[in-house]
Amino acid sequence: MKNILIIHTGGTISMLENKATGEVIPASKHPLSELQFHLQTYANVEEQIEFDLPSPQITPAHMLKLAKRLESLLPSYDGVVITHGTDTLEETAYCLDLLLETDKPVILTGAMRSSNEIGSDALYNLISSVRTAVHDHARDKGVLVVMNDEIHTANNVTKTSTSNVATFQSPQYGPIGIITRESIIFHHTILTRHNRPNTDRISKNVYLLKAYAGMDGGLLQAVHGLQPDGVVIEGLGQGNLPKDTVGALRSLVSEQVPVVLVSRCYQGIVQPTYGYAGGGRQLQELGVIFANGLTGPKARIRLLIELEHTSNLKELEKTFADN
Ligand code: ASP
Repeated sequence: MKNILIIHTGGTISMLENKATGEVIPASKHPLSELQFHLQTYANVEEQIEFDLPSPQITPAHMLKLAKRLESLLPSYDGVVITHGTDTLEETAYCLDLLLETDKPVILTGAMRSSNEIGSDALYNLISSVRTAVHDHARDKGVLVVMNDEIHTANNVTKTSTSNVATFQSPQYGPIGIITRESIIFHHTILTRHNRPNTDRISKNVYLLKAYAGMDGGLLQAVHGLQPDGVVIEGLGQGNLPKDTVGALRSLVSEQVPVVLVSRCYQGIVQPTYGYAGGGRQLQELGVIFANGLTGPKARIRLLIELEHTSNLKELEKTFADN
């Protein structure tokens, strides 16, 4: 049997519902620890508690710490399952995907309903994750997210619903595998993956803004005043911004502050298509960097990591264009 390490970091999967008040709160002892016997059929399992945090409290510093921990622990195991709050799970998954250089399965999972709620998906998702971690086809796929009988890549997955157990989806490409009672079926191959191992710090200041109809330069000027190391903007459609933002953008870029553009759309990639004021073509000429297919929060994680290696705008443009 394979050896799998479970690392707990907190989130609903680590919490219990208070039956008197209905609040979901952290438990004094991890609710899944005593249910570990359910996993023994699939693997030799050990567990560790790394953090006990609701995931809105998880920061890039926690993600880096987790990556370093995994680097030291992975050689002793066949795979690792990380339990995590679902709110920022996709950011941690993507950050680990960038930082780790391993072909061993690293799987993140969580739960939408805590362990003592009716219809809890906590133990079920943990079992599915361990089953996936021991599967031979789970190797060399980067960091994966297993929830609700589906296997997603860290690159594509996002939380799409506030409360539905089917919340995690990969809008552009779909899951890369499914989990049934009897089997685990991988049905996609990963062709491109960006990796940034040897990152020892995440120390920069990167802000994320979302564009809207009627947006002017005010927010960008305010962010400029905070002396950012980088800015990510979720732009409109294929990668456009209202024309009144252009002046503020120009002064950011002229001071060599990288501005990375993604789309606020649910699907698709940004492209320099439109030639009008604020259109993608003008933004590209201004020096705005287009990030293909990433969500705003993931582009921010990527920029935070890239900035530890270079702040040269041309190099950043090239690395974001690669994938
Ligand atoms: N608010 C919770 C968290 O992210 C939600 C969850 O885990 O499902 O910690």
